[in-house]
Amino acid sequence: MQFELLAQRGEARLGRLTLAHGVVETPIFMPCGTYGSVKGVSPDQLRSAGVQILLGNTFHLMLRPGAEAIERFNGLHQFMGWDRPILTDSGGFQVFSLADMNKVNEEGVSFRSPINGDKILLTPERAMAIQTALNSDIAMIFDECTPYPISKAGAESSMQLSLRWAQRSRAAFTSDNALFGIVQGGIYPDLRQASLEGLHKIGFEGYAIGGLSVGEPKPAMLETIRRIAPKMPAQSPRYLMGVGTPSDLIESVRRGVDMMDCVMPTRNARNGHLFTSSGAIRIRNAVHRASDEALDANCSCYTCQNFSRGYLHHLDKCGEILGATLNSIHNIAYYLELMRQARGALAEDHYDAWALTVYAGWSETPPPLEFDLEAPQ
Ligand SMILES: [Zn+2]
Repeated sequence: MQFELLAQRGEARLGRLTLAHGVVETPIFMPCGTYGSVKGVSPDQLRSAGVQILLGNTFHLMLRPGAEAIERFNGLHQFMGWDRPILTDSGGFQVFSLADMNKVNEEGVSFRSPINGDKILLTPERAMAIQTALNSDIAMIFDECTPYPISKAGAESSMQLSLRWAQRSRAAFTSDNALFGIVQGGIYPDLRQASLEGLHKIGFEGYAIGGLSVGEPKPAMLETIRRIAPKMPAQSPRYLMGVGTPSDLIESVRRGVDMMDCVMPTRNARNGHLFTSSGAIRIRNAVHRASDEALDANCSCYTCQNFSRGYLHHLDKCGEILGATLNSIHNIAYYLELMRQARGALAEDHYDAWALTVYAGWSETPPPLEFDLEAPQ
């Protein structure tokens, strides 16, 4: 893996990431391919929508069809028919979200398979072996996603456990692909700093910010990013996990983030919640029933070029599968176009002005730039 930092404007960065399966221009958004598929959207449609890199879920794929099955295809790319880069998570996030089913100890996490009830132990070593079998371009260390709210002592012991697991993940990962460390520590700036220092000592190809967008107030999330992102190694890519809305993308890039992923564009699309250059709309609202307007007049995606709001409203009302597909194509294209514009604005050094133009289109006030994490919450 190679990362070139092409320009820096304030804390925002323009970069180029060269991976085993191709080049990714950063800042970039990665749609989620949970079960080895971005729900309802074919690889061909993803490419047309501008997708450069996808996220695959270790947890779901280890349960079905199992890492051994995918290994027979030389990995996830061939299995799912996607030849561009893939990043896989470690499975930790899903394991920890299985409330009352998990048991955490130094060794790893035991849980019951939600598919067949089998008892499964996921450890850093096992998570690395699975991601090696998936042959993703970028693998993530196995860590504990610290919940919110949590006491400082709780956040610290969780962060320390994640650091010990980071060491074991690094030692167990023998693939030539890239491995990223994950900064934890909740919304406590000194814990975030300690986590980053510990990871940097171990040494990774890239660094992620985990444990955000888990229920903390939005300003606390943005302030945590503002504090920690600029301290992450400048010559390595920085990945913000599980974020977010279009404005979260704009604000996270402004604070120094290069890569993001979230289920939001695709999940919302399936619920008829669509992002446009004039703000978010609900396609099932009656106002769209007879509309012959394009979903977004400024969008060049397949959906906007060929179908009306009225038709998308109709498909949604009838629960037609095609509606979910067309809506998902648009939302994904919208997120990717937002990142393409962000890269253009960074190249031409007018990021802040560009961001204000986007917010004006949505009639949205930009979020506050600072937030006091030390003040009583
Ligand atoms: Zn569109």
